[in-house]
Amino acid sequence: MSAVRAAERAAVLIEALPYIQRFAGQVVVVKYGGNALAGSTDDDALSLFAQDLVLMRAVGMRPVVVHGGGPQISSLMTRLGKVTEFRNGLRVTDAETVDIARMVLIGQVNPQLVSAINVHGPIAVGVSGEDAGLIKARARDPELGFVGDVTAVNPTILDSLIGDGFIPVVATIGTDEQGQAYNINADTVAGAIAEALLAEKLVYLTDIEGLRRVVDDPASLIRQTTPDELDRLLADGVIAGGMIPKVGSCVRAVRHGVRRAHILDGRIPHVLLLEVFTDEGIGTMVRLLNDEPREPVSEQQRTGADDHSTTSPRTEDVL
Ligand code: ADP
Ligand code: MG
Repeated sequence: MSAVRAAERAAVLIEALPYIQRFAGQVVVVKYGGNALAGSTDDDALSLFAQDLVLMRAVGMRPVVVHGGGPQISSLMTRLGKVTEFRNGLRVTDAETVDIARMVLIGQVNPQLVSAINVHGPIAVGVSGEDAGLIKARARDPELGFVGDVTAVNPTILDSLIGDGFIPVVATIGTDEQGQAYNINADTVAGAIAEALLAEKLVYLTDIEGLRRVVDDPASLIRQTTPDELDRLLADGVIAGGMIPKVGSCVRAVRHGVRRAHILDGRIPHVLLLEVFTDEGIGTMVRLLNDEPREPVSEQQRTGADDHSTTSPRTEDVL
């Protein structure tokens, strides 16, 4: 290795040091999108994601994974000859469909993630929202059948697993008081779990580079924003489709004690590490406005931080 390359490598590791120190012991809830999973034709994206989680855990962080599986549910329904009906973007879920969702999420997608992580050691454990009463739900709208809203999160099982050094991987099926199962939006569950665990970070890995101010314009990436601004963008209809539950959950979580929420491009190799361990960060970061950097910032950074649509490196507080 040349002296220059050696110095570069050392610099990368040293850049990570304050983040490793700051995040030791902190919970990070990561939602892995069904589209990100379905989009990875080879297993590469999944194994890189697994490496990131294992590295985060190895340096003392406490990652929790929440996953979706919409495309995989649709695909099995097609194979079974069952027509998927959507109303206002929500799958109509009859008794047979919730059974299929349960089979796919708990029987296929969840173990896929668990085994990708466990290649590196016996550390991931799959749980569903039904386990130990983790996710309580009720019907969102009788017309939609067994589509649930979260009514309560009981994080006991997650606390136990995390406390024992495991990485919980959560399938988002919940139950009501009678034990009826519901399929629940994974974005919403990730937010609710992040709140219940008082997570340091809530991270959405999706199939776009972050939040855009103009949906069709990649140059309109929002690097840093606040719940108040997101409320306005939601009201203005700038946030659409699958982004609505993510943004709604970011807003809620950050207002309820989660320090940072992030929307990142799950297609970028090692995007989690790039967010967590580098000064620049990546994608969109959401935080409370009054939560300013503690380090004095340069005039240039100060100007950048006030302009939410800036593409310059954002300021991040390092303790
Ligand atoms: P996931 O499987 O990760 O939940 P979704 O398809 O549900 O993915 O949500 C991500 C999609 O949201 C993007 O691919 C994009 O088409 C859409 N979207 C809607 N509004 C916006 C916006 N303002 N900025 C970025 N993406 C948006
Ligand atoms: Mg989605």
